[in-house]
Amino acid sequence: MSVNGQSRSTARILALANQKGGVGKTTTAINLGTGLAQAGKKCVIIDLDPQGNASTGLGFRTEDRLQTTYDALGGSTPLVQVLSPTTIEGLSIAPASVDLSGIDVELVDDPQRARKLKTLIDDPAGQMTSRFDYILIDCPPSLNLLTINAMAAADGILVPLQCEFFALEGLTQLIGTVQRVQGALNPGLRISGIILTMYDQRNRLSSQVADDVRENLGDIVFSTLIPRNVRLSEAPSFGLPVMAYDADCAGSLAYKALTKELLSRDSETLAA
Ligand code: ATP
Ligand code: MG
Repeated sequence: MSVNGQSRSTARILALANQKGGVGKTTTAINLGTGLAQAGKKCVIIDLDPQGNASTGLGFRTEDRLQTTYDALGGSTPLVQVLSPTTIEGLSIAPASVDLSGIDVELVDDPQRARKLKTLIDDPAGQMTSRFDYILIDCPPSLNLLTINAMAAADGILVPLQCEFFALEGLTQLIGTVQRVQGALNPGLRISGIILTMYDQRNRLSSQVADDVRENLGDIVFSTLIPRNVRLSEAPSFGLPVMAYDADCAGSLAYKALTKELLSRDSETLAA
C-alpha cells in the first residue's frame, strides 16, 4: 500500500516458535496459513527451518526449491524473489533448504545477523509488508539465530504446546529468550498466543495438561483445541494442507476455528 508515495506496513507478522521438537509448529503454520487464505487474507509462510517441512507439506519437492530463505538471508536474493504461490489461492511460501543449517556460521562476523529477516521483510519498497495481510514464520526446534531472526522480525509469537506431560517444560527458557529479544532487538514483541495441540479427548492426561496450561497462562491460551487427528499427519505426505486433503475432518474444523479465533483477537487488538 502506498501512502503519499511511502510504503506502509500492513502485514501482521507472527512466528510459530517452540524449541521443543514435534509440537505442531509446522502443522499450525501450514493450516493456519491456509485458514487465513481461505478467509480472504493474503498470507505467506516463511520457512525458516532447514528441515523444510512447511515447504514439503505444501507440495514443494527439494528439487523444486530453486531460491530459498537461505539465499535471502545470505543476501544474494531479495525475499520477494524467493516467494512461490502454493496450490491454495492467497497463500504463498518462501521455501527453505538444508543449506539454511549453515547460516549461523556464515553470518557469524555480521553485526546485523539477528536483524537479517527483519531487514528483508521491511524492504524499502514495502513489497513484503504491503502485499500480505499475514506473514507466518515457521521456526526450527531451537532457540538459535534463525529463531532469533524470526523473533526480531515478528509482532507476535504463537507457541504450539503439545498436550502431554512435559508440555510446559522449556517454556521458561522460551519466555526468557522473548524477553531478551524485546530488550535488545524488538521492544514491541509479544507472545500473542499459546495453541494447545494433539489434544486426545480419550486421554485424561490431555485434559489435565490443557487445564493446567490454562490455569498457569490464562487468556493467552487459545480456546480452540487442536485434536490429535490422523488426517493432519497424513496431509503433508500428499503436499496438501489438511483443509485441501479432507475439508470436513476434525483437524480441518479445528484449524478453521483457530483461524476465526485469531482473526477475532487481532481485530480486537487493532480496535483497542
Ligand atoms: P519440528 O520441531 O521438527 O519442526 P513441529 O513442531 O513443526 O516439529 P509438526 O511437524 O507440525 O511439529 O508435527 C510433528 C508431527 O506430528 C508431524 O508428523 C505431524 O504431521 C504430526 N502432527 C502435528 N499435529 C498433529 C495433530 N494435531 N494430530 C496428529 N498428528 C499431528
Ligand atoms: Mg517444524
